[in-house]
Amino acid sequence: MSTHRTGREVRLAARPQGWPTEETFDVVEVEVADPGPGQVLVRNLFMSVDPYMRGRMNDAKSYLPPFALDAAMEGGAVGEVIESNSPDHKVGDVVLHGLGWREYAVVDGKQARVVDPTAVPSLSVYLGVLGMTGLTAYAGLLDVAEFKAGDTVFVSGAAGAVGNEVGQIAKLKGAKRVIGSAGSAEKVKHLIDDLGFDAAFNYKDGPVAEQLAAAAPEGIDVYFDNVGGEHLEAAIESFNVHGRAAICGMISMYNSTEPSAAPRNLATVIGKRLTLRGMLVGDHARRMPDFIAEVGGWLREGKIKYREDVTDGLESTPEAFIGMLEGRNFGKQLVRVSPDPTLPGQ
Ligand code: NAP
Repeated sequence: MSTHRTGREVRLAARPQGWPTEETFDVVEVEVADPGPGQVLVRNLFMSVDPYMRGRMNDAKSYLPPFALDAAMEGGAVGEVIESNSPDHKVGDVVLHGLGWREYAVVDGKQARVVDPTAVPSLSVYLGVLGMTGLTAYAGLLDVAEFKAGDTVFVSGAAGAVGNEVGQIAKLKGAKRVIGSAGSAEKVKHLIDDLGFDAAFNYKDGPVAEQLAAAAPEGIDVYFDNVGGEHLEAAIESFNVHGRAAICGMISMYNSTEPSAAPRNLATVIGKRLTLRGMLVGDHARRMPDFIAEVGGWLREGKIKYREDVTDGLESTPEAFIGMLEGRNFGKQLVRVSPDPTLPGQ
């Protein structure tokens, strides 16, 4: 079936030097192609904006290729199949795929995973608490940092999408003490009052090392790093012997134009026999069934909480992305591309 259709997409208009601005992006109306053999046409409902996308905006070699200039950006999205040439998909299926930042996406069937809209409170959770960010928290804490019951855990970016789930999973798995850092008093209060963190502090209130030492008088065993820099230096200082860190992200450096000096105490990892392991969530896909079973169960039982910050309309995507990098998001930052009142989970 061929239907003349247009839709909007968000393109990378210029590579940012330092912080991205609205001028970094262009919102453009384009013709939507017909799906080819084996492909589906998807109308996007929700899409995710994530910190790693900032790295792909640079023209630099990394574990993912740079976004092309004057082409639509990409990222996780959930949408409804509206045309299908794929034997595995029918019209009306809801799929998770990697072509966000646009209203309509032509996706290879093999890249579109069917998800159940009736199994979740909102389709958006497939991009957050039960999605890539949730798996990052689960695999990073349990497999990379090798968390065990009785550990004292410190997580930075703790009110963020990955961080809040790390802290809650650690509590559910028997952590002795969970400490979080975040960038506002409101976020700190949420960590303690709503999510059951044992201690939390605002890293903008004073030196991280001092605030962490006060929050963890007996030291820490696990550090889940979302921030890097001064936070990593402080964690190394507070580590007990045989401490373990999952080095998940270093958002404090993503928009900086100068190389950071910290951590100045990196040599201490030797004396303390620390394990600091970098992680990429893509290496942990085999843990998805365990993650969905365990965290999905906690979600249904109300044992795990999640918070989302949802803006409306594709045109709100640049502001949502920049706001997330600046910490204006409270919870997983998502964009509702186009609601569909006929589907559950909207
Ligand atoms: P998020 O935490 O929901 O949003 C980003 C948060 O970073 C902001 O809300 C802000 O919160 C904080 N932030 C920004 N600048 C900061 C700074 N200079 N110092 C301290 N905090 C700062 O995002 P997310 O999706 O959960 O990602 C969190 C981290 O995990 C990122 O570093 C990301 O790159 C990483 N990640 C890695 C993988 C992997 O496979 N390795 C996968 C997913 C995510 P405040 O208000 O608290 O400042």
